[in-house]
Amino acid sequence: MSQILDMLVVGGGINGVGIARDAAGRGLSVQLIEKGDLACATSSVSSKLIHGGLRYLEHGAFRLVHEALAEREVLLASAPHIIWPLRFVLPHDRGLRSRALLRFGLFIYDHLGDRRTLPGTETVKLRNHPYGLPLQSRLTTGFVYSDCWVQDARLVVLNARDAAAHGARITTRTEMRSAQRVNNSWRIIVEQSGEAKEIMARILVNAAGPWVVDILHRAGIAHSKAEIRLIKGSHIVVPRLYDGAQAYILQNDDRRVIFVLPYEEKFSLIGTTDIPYAGDHEHLAIDPIEVEYLCRAVSRWFKKPVVPQDVVWSYAGVRPLYDDKESDAESVTRDYVLDLNARDGTASLLSVFGGKITTYRRLAEHAMEKLAPSLPGLKGPWTASATLPGGDLPDHNAPAFAEGLARDYPFLEAAAALRLTRNYGTDARRILGTARRAEDLGRGFGYGFSERELDWLVKEEWARTSEDVLWRRSKLGLHLGRDAVAAISGHLAVSKEN
Ligand SMILES: Cc1cc2nc3c(=O)[nH]c(=O)nc-3n(C[C@H](O)[C@H](O)[C@H](O)COP(=O)(O)OP(=O)(O)OC[C@H]3O[C@@H](n4cnc5c(N)ncnc54)[C@H](O)[C@@H]3O)c2cc1C
Repeated sequence: MSQILDMLVVGGGINGVGIARDAAGRGLSVQLIEKGDLACATSSVSSKLIHGGLRYLEHGAFRLVHEALAEREVLLASAPHIIWPLRFVLPHDRGLRSRALLRFGLFIYDHLGDRRTLPGTETVKLRNHPYGLPLQSRLTTGFVYSDCWVQDARLVVLNARDAAAHGARITTRTEMRSAQRVNNSWRIIVEQSGEAKEIMARILVNAAGPWVVDILHRAGIAHSKAEIRLIKGSHIVVPRLYDGAQAYILQNDDRRVIFVLPYEEKFSLIGTTDIPYAGDHEHLAIDPIEVEYLCRAVSRWFKKPVVPQDVVWSYAGVRPLYDDKESDAESVTRDYVLDLNARDGTASLLSVFGGKITTYRRLAEHAMEKLAPSLPGLKGPWTASATLPGGDLPDHNAPAFAEGLARDYPFLEAAAALRLTRNYGTDARRILGTARRAEDLGRGFGYGFSERELDWLVKEEWARTSEDVLWRRSKLGLHLGRDAVAAISGHLAVSKEN
């Protein structure tokens, strides 16, 4: 009989890797299986914000907003390379939410969470402030507040790396087929490269996001107390709409809000939509009607209208939300529910319903609290003060680290040094190693991306295909041409053979 693990986690999105990391760091034997690539589903198609969620205040979601606001500072300190502060400009316009309401909401937002380093709200006169430059001239007042940006898929990969550093086994391209209780454990059948394998584990964690109910069925559980509601959300990417590092949060006439975010230097990211979804969530794409909706929503605020022809890339995902029976898609809670199915405290099955990227670390702590009764002697929480791989930047200062990198590796252009820092933090030095010339890094694919970096992604970050490399481990897909993509695919094919 195979060795019995303490925990098998199904799902390599943010919640699965977060739980695997927390559990492994407490000394449990853990394996995580992911049927595709890490972050191949919801966790790479978000708006990429570590945020309290200003608009959730209108729905009275104070617990969620409080937890999320406090997490901004915790996550910022743990991964200052891939997470950074962002100032949001919220212009006021007649006929929408009143100034008093916006001021009141932002006052709560400033004071509800444990805000230490992020600057608070200020009011600006848009007509004579750079933030007003791209906006239409009728707009006179804007409120400016803080939240954070995160490279969502990289957050997933770094959690997986840290889980592995604490002893967890991470197996991608491995699908859970079925699970059944045998004595006091789970017997799980997985499929890897077309082969069926058996894994035994005392605890099964179902962190399959939109597939959470499918996993319950595969484990022979027909009904769960909690249910899921799938809400589609899409984003468009257009050439950069303005200079400056600020983001905009724009109210729409349907009372929803749309974000316009600085993206990958040359672009602006615009999202999102909120559409109840019942179709196939394996192959999602934005609908033309969503593109039009987003263009229209932004064009009522910006001087230069955004039109569908401007769109250079788009992506879509479904939010796997806990169904609180709210009637409209936008009001469904963004909070999470952990459902424990346990028989006499043994062979527990913990399922994750809902949750945001922002709250993944606290969700993992709550998951461990729920499971603690079946884990005598379990160690206490540890992730609040731990850094993620590469996150040990001196003074949390990524630009200063990038300058040092460019000094020590003079062949690197400043932009390439910053890109490496923003992706790998202090691990950038491990990747560059003793290189003295660009040629020492092997073949260059363009945009400062080298064979050495590609090999790191394969060896250290579970990348297997060009899509893993270009759209999840990085967003180089936006910057590299067809020839570079073909060369990367060719290199990956050779790596696979060796
Ligand atoms: C449009 C949109 C915008 C968002 N914006 C934000 C934001 O700005 N900030 C924020 O905090 N949150 C945001 N969210 C929410 C956040 O992205 C999700 O809550 C989060 O990514 C869910 O992560 P997860 O790990 O639960 O699910 P997923 O990331 O979907 O991971 C589940 C994984 O399970 C795997 N899986 C499924 N079945 C099996 C099986 N049988 N065997 C093995 N593996 C399996 C899947 O392949 C998948 O990778 C947004 C969501 C959407 C859709």
